[in-house]
Amino acid sequence: MPTVPVRTAVWRGWRKRCPQCGQGTLYTGWARPVNRCGVCGLVYERNQGDTWFFTIMGDRLAIGVMIGLLYFGVHRSRPVVFLGAFAAAVAFVILTAPNRWGVGTALHYLARVHLDDADDPTRPTDAAGSLTSGTDGPSSRE
Ligand SMILES: [Zn+2]
Repeated sequence: MPTVPVRTAVWRGWRKRCPQCGQGTLYTGWARPVNRCGVCGLVYERNQGDTWFFTIMGDRLAIGVMIGLLYFGVHRSRPVVFLGAFAAAVAFVILTAPNRWGVGTALHYLARVHLDDADDPTRPTDAAGSLTSGTDGPSSRE
């Protein structure tokens, strides 16, 4: 399996594309998640909640900027700047949510590839869930 560079996988995630092939979509519509890539067959999230850590961290970074504005007292010294920056941060949090979640999916994918778990085939699978290339399955890697 060719290794996808970190930067490429993250960029694909930001664009809401499959981190492995860059062709399939992560969502239908604005942010309705898809279970697997329609092109390469990668299952994005093997167990519900697998991408939780990466998704939460992506959300917290934007919220941290808002807390930083309050902490450094921007609201007292420059109220207009504060309101503009706060509104921009809220808009950023809302409008880029699917993109940040896609980055979370890409980071989860990279962690799976890096950990090389024998029970977690990140290779493409067919509709029945069998590997389409490479080994016969996890049991052959012992
Ligand atoms: Zn794919």
